[in-house]
Amino acid sequence: MSFWDGETCEYCQGEIVERRVTLHRKVRGRYVLVENVPAGVCRKCGTRYYAANVLKTVAETVRGRRKAKREVSVPVYSI
Ligand SMILES: [Zn+2]
Repeated sequence: MSFWDGETCEYCQGEIVERRVTLHRKVRGRYVLVENVPAGVCRKCGTRYYAANVLKTVAETVRGRRKAKREVSVPVYSI
């Protein structure tokens, strides 16, 4: 059982399955990655859905209430 059991995509009615994904967030001018975020992902179109409590945890995590697990440099391109 997962949070997404029985849920369908609001765009294509596809089945939503739980996956761990990596999110990109910009925090104080720096890009950060948040790994291992549980998300619901549509099997047909790939649209990602996030539970409200997960987004809250992500926001708290990147605002520095928790220490980063490790630091990596992220190349950012702009054209
Ligand atoms: Zn879909």
